[in-house]
Amino acid sequence: MKAQNRSSLRVAIVGGGAAGFFAAFSVIEHHKGAQVVIFEKSNKILAKVKISGGGRCNVTNACFSASQLSKFYPRGEKEMKKAFSVFQAKDTVEWFEKRGVSLKAESDNRMFPITDDSQTIIDCFLEEAKLKNIQLLKLNPISKITPEKTGYTLHHNETREHFDKVIIATGGSPKESGTYWLRQLGLSISPPVPSLFTFNIPGDQVKTLMGLVVENATVRIQGTKLKYSGPVLITHWGMSGPAVLKLSAWGAKLLAEKKYQFKIQINWLSIKSEEEAHDILKKADASIRAKKIMNANPFGLPNRMWAFLLQKVKINPDMKWFDLSKKSLNQLLNTLLNDIYEVSGKTTFKEEFVTCGGVKLSEIDMTSMESKALKNLYFAGEVMDVDGITGGFNFQAAWTTGYIAGQLK
Ligand SMILES: Cc1cc2nc3c(=O)[nH]c(=O)nc-3n(C[C@H](O)[C@H](O)[C@H](O)COP(=O)(O)OP(=O)(O)OC[C@H]3O[C@@H](n4cnc5c(N)ncnc54)[C@H](O)[C@@H]3O)c2cc1C
Repeated sequence: MKAQNRSSLRVAIVGGGAAGFFAAFSVIEHHKGAQVVIFEKSNKILAKVKISGGGRCNVTNACFSASQLSKFYPRGEKEMKKAFSVFQAKDTVEWFEKRGVSLKAESDNRMFPITDDSQTIIDCFLEEAKLKNIQLLKLNPISKITPEKTGYTLHHNETREHFDKVIIATGGSPKESGTYWLRQLGLSISPPVPSLFTFNIPGDQVKTLMGLVVENATVRIQGTKLKYSGPVLITHWGMSGPAVLKLSAWGAKLLAEKKYQFKIQINWLSIKSEEEAHDILKKADASIRAKKIMNANPFGLPNRMWAFLLQKVKINPDMKWFDLSKKSLNQLLNTLLNDIYEVSGKTTFKEEFVTCGGVKLSEIDMTSMESKALKNLYFAGEVMDVDGITGGFNFQAAWTTGYIAGQLK
């Protein structure tokens, strides 16, 4: 390491990911002349940024209200609302724009670089780090942090080094053992469990519909208040799609406790009541009553799903609507609005996997990201017990917490 000017503030960032880099930039912005070193354990920096969003990097979400934005965080909603009043999605867009990286919003509000290439973000960060004279040390895992009278000693590769302030941005740790060194510092960790996964439904015929999407269904976890509406995709293993993934994020802790054994109720029509379904039928009556049930589907479900549900309630698809008994109609409506599946196990969604859990927010002053117990020790990114649903919210949390941590308040 180069000879250091000991009169300037020395700041260590542990972790060369999204949050670590953003925290480093913020340190320089707020503390001119500070010496910033990023310690990265692997030989790759910003590795997740590279693979994120299918290689396009879903940088943020075009939701420009702090309170609305916070609603996309199953863990940390209340705390992130305050944090977003300091740095939110609009600030992210401006930050990148100032550095020549334009972001575009897609119809679902996800924002990507206009190049559709995550390397654009990495190049921008590397350029910025160079401009700001930030030192990057790859293959430098921090194995221990020792609090001193002032500042901290960092242990890395048989070396010890003193820093005035430390920002921990080591990301999520899927295993509890990965947080050992943080627990050694006396920090409480909410046990890590996966978020954003799909539901396995072994042995159910629904899987024969693999690849089919129902655009607006409501999935509810039986016996809980958890429900989410949106597209549901039938897969090889069971069910996926935004409604399922988002539900898995909201239910991450509860579903882990249930060992991923639970029942879901699906309202395939996303309407509130059977009365509403009866109204739809009444309106369609004249045009459908003389037709075969299979060919006259008044609810607009995909044909394969309609055929599957008719078979499930044992209605002959060639029967005409006017021949359908009241009992069969009720059974059909009940299944359309309240179709039950037994979930057994999960599959991790490879596109945007996040760990729920991390350093408990009750131990962090969320106005500064500083540890309440350990002065001059800060946190940023997924190492904290904050996580969002899919849509660019996890990176936004990394930018926001990194920015605030870097203020070193
Ligand atoms: C496949 C995939 C795609 C994703 N796509 C998106 C997306 O498009 N949009 C979105 O918002 N979110 C996405 N996410 C989530 C997002 O990548 C994370 O939320 C985000 O990267 C968290 O940033 P971080 O800096 O906190 O952690 P990380 O990006 O995990 O970075 C932490 C860094 O710290 C290093 N480190 C760990 N321990 C130590 C140590 N002891 N010493 C030194 N270094 C250490 C790690 O090697 C790592 O480089 C995706 C995740 C995955 C896995």
